[in-house]
Amino acid sequence: MKEVYTIEDLRDWPAATADCEHPLRLAVIGDPVAHSRSPQMHNAALTALGLPLRYTRLHLRPAELEEGLGLLGPMEFLGVNCTIPHKSAVLAALPQADAIAHRAGGVNTVVVYPDGSLGGTSTDGGGFSRAVRECFGRELGELRVMILGAAGGAGRAVAMQCASAGCPGLMLINRSLEKLAALLDDLAEAYPTAHVAAGDFDEIFLKAGLKTSDLVVNCTSVGMKAGDSSPIPKKLLSSHHLLYDTIYVGHRTPLLAAGDAMGAHGANGHAMLLHQGALSFERWFHQPAPLEVMRQALANA
Ligand code: NAP
Repeated sequence: MKEVYTIEDLRDWPAATADCEHPLRLAVIGDPVAHSRSPQMHNAALTALGLPLRYTRLHLRPAELEEGLGLLGPMEFLGVNCTIPHKSAVLAALPQADAIAHRAGGVNTVVVYPDGSLGGTSTDGGGFSRAVRECFGRELGELRVMILGAAGGAGRAVAMQCASAGCPGLMLINRSLEKLAALLDDLAEAYPTAHVAAGDFDEIFLKAGLKTSDLVVNCTSVGMKAGDSSPIPKKLLSSHHLLYDTIYVGHRTPLLAAGDAMGAHGANGHAMLLHQGALSFERWFHQPAPLEVMRQALANA
């Protein structure tokens, strides 16, 4: 079994995977994709449940996406996960994508139906909601939420999940305010009674917003690179804040370190990664995912 397969492999999947002990019927598609830890997580689950198939990585460039999606049915895939940069392009390519995917602005889970057609959904928002419950012991719908980087892919999925959960307040923050316009329109259409405010990283605006926020979610990529600083100043945080950083790195991210210094309770993106994967698994197999097995596999990966 190779670490990463390509479109050439997919064109003749039986030949490319002839050396595999179990047929490869699930994959994560992305560009790049070699970094993805989804195979470790899903293969541990498949092994634990005695399911005779495996999950792999498929490197598809944007120009190869349409052909790649078209080959999933003929090559007898059960489904795929989509990562950067394919989520929105897969949404556009799949007429059967569901309302959750449309609201999230992207598909992260493709299901191949028995007739070979493809359905799509997004489990990012659902994974986030489960992560909040697990990390903080709180229901998302009880919390007033500030989302940093709300106009990005993760930010949109989180914002839609918050509105759908009935959060009593939703504050959307984005560096470029004009990028929030489409999300604000879509939120107003889908959830007309949601209490939504929007702004940029202006310190006065942040300070006022943080006074009336319980949960701060970092959906920017700020904190992924060594040397990044916290996306919001430490002095604005206080001990009543819950901080969820969607970034899943091993160390405390700058936002979480800032929160630690101010006595706030924080958690990183591992739980969201785990739960979005578990929700994908449940879509493919119609049974509960073995969560602890998947958690351990992610931790080891
Ligand atoms: P994306 O679509 O490219 O969005 C990036 C967001 O970050 C945008 O809102 C962007 O603002 C903002 N941003 C980038 N640099 C910034 C800076 N210097 N200052 C302020 N804002 C900045 O990316 P994505 O796919 O949403 O991913 C964002 C993060 O979510 C990543 O860290 C990713 O690892 C994480 N994520 C985690 C999970 C999970 O399961 N835990 C799932 C999905 C994503 P502009 O609009 O102004 O450019």
